[in-house]
Amino acid sequence: MSRLMLGKTLERICKAVLLLCLVHFLIMMIFYLDVYTQRFDIFSRFNTRNYSKMHQYFNISKPNGTSLTFLGGEDHFVSSRKLENNLTVTKKPLPMCPDVPQGLVGRLLIEFNSLMTMEKVQRENPDVREGGKYKPSDCIAKQRVAIIIPFRHREHHLKFWLHYLHPILRRQKINYGIYIINQHGEGMFNRAKLLNIGYMEVLKDAEYDCFVFSDVDLIPMDDRNLYHCYDQPRHFAIAMDKFGFRITLKGMKVSRPDSKIGKYRMIKHERDKHNEPNPQRFTKIQNTKVTMKQDGINSLKYKLVNVAKYPMYTNITVDIGTPPPRPSRG
Ligand code: UDP
Ligand code: MN
Repeated sequence: MSRLMLGKTLERICKAVLLLCLVHFLIMMIFYLDVYTQRFDIFSRFNTRNYSKMHQYFNISKPNGTSLTFLGGEDHFVSSRKLENNLTVTKKPLPMCPDVPQGLVGRLLIEFNSLMTMEKVQRENPDVREGGKYKPSDCIAKQRVAIIIPFRHREHHLKFWLHYLHPILRRQKINYGIYIINQHGEGMFNRAKLLNIGYMEVLKDAEYDCFVFSDVDLIPMDDRNLYHCYDQPRHFAIAMDKFGFRITLKGMKVSRPDSKIGKYRMIKHERDKHNEPNPQRFTKIQNTKVTMKQDGINSLKYKLVNVAKYPMYTNITVDIGTPPPRPSRG
């Protein structure tokens, strides 16, 4: 009798355990199906391409160039739970920057009386990378622009130049690097040679497909004067024409911005020592057609002294040697 009782009890326990297992299995199945077929789109697990087509999505772009894509199902209202479930972090390709950048302000107030420090410039431009490099975070710029500045003993001007130009270039959505080509020693200043050297040296640092030459004391008075390349070499400072002849002889046009937006403010200064006007400058210009074939990039001789990357610019110091003596007049 008691054996029979024990047997029955054991049977009941076994059945109960079996039932429990079944219930557990069923709950697991329901949970599994609920999560994977209803809340997630089951097709997404097999076909990720269709996934984005089937959903409306919106982006929140982040300054580092990646964008967060929130997938928002068929309904317009997206509950936070659904967002949590469907949140994916994707690297979406950025669009190309528009030809006419949004957010330009036009005429600018330029003054050189305030106290300017490199620390202030740095504080104002936290997203400029080491060496004075920047690229827009929300679009891909069509060109990489090297901005080349001939330089010696003009630290005061440089601070103002960086203070004004970094924000302008950022608004213009330019992918750029700032290069100061610093002439070593106290020999005669040779701006043209520094520009040629700058062209050679910046290409060692990064790939550029556009070169803009600027004086350190010239600030554009309007941010619609874009610092990038056009089909033809462009003459930025149209009010400061002292440079265009080389280019015209090569059969290229110098394009000019609208006279209203092409205005520059120049920092007033005394003439520097060792930068006296070359008495032969007019004869030299007349002979350019002959001399330009031997003179320039092809025959560039100089010594690289130092390359230093500062937060707001790259400094390239070069020894350009001494120029051949000027023949005495008469
Ligand atoms: N420059 C310089 N140090 C000098 C002389 C010239 O850095 O001692 C550079 C600087 O970028 C300057 C440009 O060369 O803006 C043109 O020289 P400068 O300003 O003397 O010419 P100007 O005022 O006659 O246009
Ligand atoms: Mn000047």
